[in-house]
Amino acid sequence: MTSHADPMDLPAPDPTDPADLDSLLTDDEKSVRSAVRSFLDKEAEPYITEWFENGEIPVIRELARGLGELGVLGMHLDGYGCAGMSATEYGLACLEIEATDSGLRSLVSVQGSLAMFSIWRWGPEEQKREWLPRMAAGDAIGCFGLTEPDHGSDPGSMTTRARRNGTDWILNGRKTWISNAPYSDVAVVWAQTDEGIRGFVVPTDTPGFSAPEIKHKMSLRASATGELVLDDVRLPADAVLPEVRGLKGPLSALNEARYGITWGALGAARSSLEVARQYSIERHQFGRPIGGFQLTQQKLADMSLEYIKGYLLAVHLGRRKDAGLLRPEQVSIGKLNNVRESMEICRTARTILGGNGISLEFPVIRHMNNLESVLTYEGTVEMHTLVLGQLLTGQAAFR
Ligand code: FAD
Repeated sequence: MTSHADPMDLPAPDPTDPADLDSLLTDDEKSVRSAVRSFLDKEAEPYITEWFENGEIPVIRELARGLGELGVLGMHLDGYGCAGMSATEYGLACLEIEATDSGLRSLVSVQGSLAMFSIWRWGPEEQKREWLPRMAAGDAIGCFGLTEPDHGSDPGSMTTRARRNGTDWILNGRKTWISNAPYSDVAVVWAQTDEGIRGFVVPTDTPGFSAPEIKHKMSLRASATGELVLDDVRLPADAVLPEVRGLKGPLSALNEARYGITWGALGAARSSLEVARQYSIERHQFGRPIGGFQLTQQKLADMSLEYIKGYLLAVHLGRRKDAGLLRPEQVSIGKLNNVRESMEICRTARTILGGNGISLEFPVIRHMNNLESVLTYEGTVEMHTLVLGQLLTGQAAFR
């Protein structure tokens, strides 16, 4: 029955959570979130600006092991040393991590949702036993090679090729824009074969394999990105992922990572929104706080509304995923909306900070620049728009 207590007698909402979104979460979910936040506050927040500015995380191995100990690598996978958490808990971890930096969330997504998921879902038992426990612990870092210099949004046209040689496979080709590549121990590489596209588990010390770093990025600087160069890379028969053929393999992993991004992007937005709100209270112009001007309040109100809507969507999708009911098109809805709106929130926060908004003294421009990558990778905003367009009209407009 509806309570008829006077709403004005209820405690005033917290300005950092005006819609009381916290009440959507269980105690277990909140405790996962606070464990991730405590880890980041100690191990990453004090250094993240420097890592971004220098374009390097000098303690990447220690950080990966710390994340492994925390249980966030392959967090929502079962067995093989993985934490076996729910999709919602994984999402909340992604949000916290991206509130620190999208580059760190990319490390976790690529490791858990792309590389580990591919091996976990499609790999042979021996490969699972060899790689997953080490990757879950952060002792081994993985990457995922799908994009090529001439084939990004259309990976089905890839030219990297694997041919059989006796029982071995020989891989030739080139991948680009591969997160984690420069410090990976293992790469999941997708290649054309006579039997269609297949996935290969490639130890990065295999002769003929190299992963030169891509320099001069203005976005996602606290994440190493590289090429994968495959020059007659010889692999044993069991390097192939036996359980899948065609684009279904890479797309199944991308679907996992896109789900995490639906939550993660909100972290960048939350951080920027909170910084801008505080700044608007402390910064005075024309003799009063800039938060007292209607134009600033309009910005903060709009940012807050979009954050709330994006969060409700993420929780909804998380609950659907935990129930085993989440379709890839619905993941596209989340990725498309939440990255796009988080970008807008960060850009608007940037304007509230005025000149200070372009300085790395504040996290806002860093988040804003990072989200430019997040908008493009794991399916561009245009691709997810076309996925939704196809769902709405029954017409595929990709080619
Ligand atoms: P293109 O496909 O050339 O697209 C260029 C533009 O054309 C985009 O706006 C696109 O939406 C638009 N476009 C293309 N086709 C159509 C169409 N049919 N209709 C309308 N518009 C269209 N890849 C990996 O495999 N592994 C990784 O770990 C990885 N990490 C990355 C990290 C970073 C920092 C970045 C920037 C990228 C990463 N990528 C990774 C690559 C990423 O997934 C691709 O950049 C992305 O898929 C887009 O491909 P593209 O850059 O070749 O752009």
